[in-house]
Amino acid sequence: MIDQTFRKILFFNPPSGLYRRDDRCQCSVEDQTVNIVFPPIEMAVDAAVALRAGAEARIRDYPAEKKDWSALARDLAEFQPAAAVFFVTTGTLEADLLAARAIKDILGDAALAIAKGEAFEALGVDTLKRWPELDLALFGECEPSLESLIRGEPRHSIPGLAYRDERGEPRITPKPAPIEDLNSLPWPARGLLNNRLYRSPETGNPLTVIHGNRGCPSKCIFCPAGTLSNYTLRLRDSGDVLDEVESCVRDFGIREFLFHGDTFTMNKRWLLSICEGIVERGLKIRWGCNSRVDTIDDERAAAMKRAGCWVVAFGLESGSQEMLDHMRKGAKVERGRQAIAICKRHGLRTHGFFVIGLPWETERTLEQTLRFAREVDTDFFDFNIAYPLPGTELFEIASREGLIDAEGLGEKGYARAAMRTRELNPERLNQWRRKALLHLYMRPGYIARTLWRAGSPRIAANYLRAALRRFRQLAFTR
Ligand code: SF4
Repeated sequence: MIDQTFRKILFFNPPSGLYRRDDRCQCSVEDQTVNIVFPPIEMAVDAAVALRAGAEARIRDYPAEKKDWSALARDLAEFQPAAAVFFVTTGTLEADLLAARAIKDILGDAALAIAKGEAFEALGVDTLKRWPELDLALFGECEPSLESLIRGEPRHSIPGLAYRDERGEPRITPKPAPIEDLNSLPWPARGLLNNRLYRSPETGNPLTVIHGNRGCPSKCIFCPAGTLSNYTLRLRDSGDVLDEVESCVRDFGIREFLFHGDTFTMNKRWLLSICEGIVERGLKIRWGCNSRVDTIDDERAAAMKRAGCWVVAFGLESGSQEMLDHMRKGAKVERGRQAIAICKRHGLRTHGFFVIGLPWETERTLEQTLRFAREVDTDFFDFNIAYPLPGTELFEIASREGLIDAEGLGEKGYARAAMRTRELNPERLNQWRRKALLHLYMRPGYIARTLWRAGSPRIAANYLRAALRRFRQLAFTR
């Protein structure tokens, strides 16, 4: 039975900036080296949950479509949803919440305005107090909560929900338990996405994201993945993952993939069964994934390469062991070195992600990081400035020590420091990041190698375009 309040649902990314809203990263697409717009797969899973519960659903991704608030207003007026669910990031929260106002302006109380985002675990009650236009806020692994809402269960019994009680008082329920059986979730409703919007910036071919696993047992202080998942790694059946990949190829003509998962390579047997399945099924696909430095070895790398993997992203984080220990990475600098060497041995490209600006960062540790980045020489680099997401241990430390910028977190992000370290101010961190990226990307040897490896004039041209964009952004932004 469906609660008629949810008979028609519009799911959307608000036109408040191109951000990765799906995952723990919550970063601005523009600030990253690989300027890639991923399809909103979490949203497509939510839409599939709604369809399964008997609701009618639509998806709009306004930033990816380059559409503004007037497009949202038109869609609301035309579709007349009974509920509209929009995805927020912590950094863009205030701008995103204008969507609630737009919903009420167009539809009044005929539609519920529902926001979804990690920020609400810490800020749900406060947000409902400040935004009377917002009816509900969801957080955590909340697909079952969404289904319960659609089925009309009492709000106080639904985990991961900020709501108002019968007296209009904001309330919040506990975070949902991580979903143990990921196979119970439907596949993303890709038929509701405009799949042509999402392309590999390298080849220009359609690309999608597969969520094969969730959760991370690690305790990095800046990352919400561990707390969100109660530090448990969960895996979908490898056969089900392969069926979804096959469906993308067959039904949507998509052959490029990102296997998204906090730790895609962590369970070796599962990873190998996916790689073997890709080969056995004759799927001619090209893909990338994330890995921890201590969950890659020669056997895994060889199997991944055979199955079409071309790039692996690592959170190398720092060249200073002291910093890795402070951030509780649970990894050694030396292991990072070995991980990159393993990938290079097997012809896999690598993307090194570094995080700078944690409270203990100094000029010396920054220098160690730059030296390490130069030495391991990954194919792509990103230096993200630590962002104290509410709910993380970093947020607690930064708040306690008064390190967060007096203006608050605002719309800062991984490219504009929202906090200082004990020794370095935000301006120094911003400036260091720009200089370090320019230094690494403008090395003549690096440019020559990248163009040589492109393998085709079309890809080389795409690299040049991306390099020009990055250069303009780093050299002329202050
Ligand atoms: S290893 Fe650390 S940074 Fe990576 S997903 Fe796990 S907790 Fe987050």
